[in-house]
Amino acid sequence: MITNHSSVIELNRKALANNLKFINNLIGDKVTLSSVIKGNAYGHGIQQMVPELQYLGVKHFSVFSSFEAKIAHEALTKDATIMIMGDIAEEDISWVVENEIQFFAYNIIGIKTLLRTAKKQHKKLHIHIELETGMNRHGFEHHQLRELIDLIQEHQDLIEVEGICTHFAGAESSANFKRIQEQQKKFLKGVEFLKIKGINPKKLHTSCSAGIIAYPQFNLDMVRIGIIQYGLWPSKESQLAYGVKHEYETQLESVLSWRSSIIDLKEVKAGNLVGYGTSFLAETDMKIASVPVGYGYGFSRSLSNVGRVLVNGKRLSVVGTVNMNMFLIDVTNIDVKIGDAVTIIGKDGEQAINVSYFGNLSEQLNYELLTRLDKSIPRVVV
Ligand SMILES: *Cc1c(COP(=O)(O)O)cnc(C)c1O
Repeated sequence: MITNHSSVIELNRKALANNLKFINNLIGDKVTLSSVIKGNAYGHGIQQMVPELQYLGVKHFSVFSSFEAKIAHEALTKDATIMIMGDIAEEDISWVVENEIQFFAYNIIGIKTLLRTAKKQHKKLHIHIELETGMNRHGFEHHQLRELIDLIQEHQDLIEVEGICTHFAGAESSANFKRIQEQQKKFLKGVEFLKIKGINPKKLHTSCSAGIIAYPQFNLDMVRIGIIQYGLWPSKESQLAYGVKHEYETQLESVLSWRSSIIDLKEVKAGNLVGYGTSFLAETDMKIASVPVGYGYGFSRSLSNVGRVLVNGKRLSVVGTVNMNMFLIDVTNIDVKIGDAVTIIGKDGEQAINVSYFGNLSEQLNYELLTRLDKSIPRVVV
C-alpha cells in the first residue's frame, strides 16, 4: 500500500483529460463549462481535482456550499470563478463577499443579509438569480420577481447580476420530458421578464450532464457539469441516448479507482460459519482472505455475500457480512498472498469493476456511492 490508510483512491489524469475533451466536443467552444465539484468532487476530492481541472483549462467551478467553496478556493492554482449553488453559512458571509465568490440567489432574505456585509466591505455581490421553474426546490417564483427587481435596482452599485439559472428536475429520464419542456418555457419567460425590466445577466444556464445530452439546444451560455467529467453516465438512458445520436464516437473513462490489499489469509473447514452471524456457511474446505475496508469507508453492507472484487486479475466473491472496517473474500484455489492488491473499483488485468456495476450490486446511484466514499481515504493522482 502506498499510504498508511487501509485503502487508497486513485484518480486517473488521462481519463479526466479524455472526459473533458468529450464534454468540450459536445458543447463547443461558445458555451462555458462550469465544473461541478460539490460532494467532495463526487467523492474524488476537491483538493486533488481542482488543480487537475485547472490544468485542463477549467476556469469555472460550482460547489454546493461556502464550506466547499473555501476548500476549492484554497486549492486554486490560478484565477478561477467559484459559484455556490446552495448554502452560505453565516460565518462565511464575510469571506464570500470579500473573495467575490458568486452564488445562487434564491430568495430576498438571503440577498438582503449579504447586502449588509457588501455595504460594510464596499464590495459587490455576484449573484445568479435562480428561477423556480417546476422543480419546487428553491428559486424565485414569477410573482416574487418584482420585489427582486426593485431590490437590485435600489442597490445597483452593490449587486452584479452574473447570471440567471434554473435546474431541471430529472433530465436523465425521458419520463420527465414534458415537465422539463415546461421548465424550459417558464425559464425563458422569466428571463424575458427580467430583461424587459432592465436586468441584464452575463450568463444564462440551466443544464447538467444529462441536459447537454438530451437537450443540447438548451446549453445557453454555460452548463454545469458534474458526473460525466468523472467518466460516469447520469443514467443508463442518457448513455443510450448519447449512443444513438453519436454512435459512440468517444467513450467516457472512469477517473476513480479504489484499491486495498489482503491483510490475512485463513483456511476454513467445511461445515463452519464465516464472519458475523450465520449468513455464510463454508460448504467445502475454503481459503478466506480479509480486506481492511468496510461500510465505515463506503463499502456498503448490502454487498454482504454479493459483492465482487479483483485480485491478481481474477474476479472474487465477498463472503459473509461486510463489517465496519473489514470484509472477507473467497480465495479458495487462488494463488494469493498477504499484501496482494485488491481492486474494489477499477481495472485489474482484463477484468474491471466499474462504478455502475458496484452501484447496481449495492443498490446505489453512481452519485450516491461516490459521495459516500470516506473523506479520510487518501486520494492520489496517477
Ligand atoms: C449537481 C448539480 C449539477 C450537476 O449535475 P450532474 O448530473 O452531475 O452533471 C448541476 N446543477 C445543479 C444545480 C446541481 O445541483
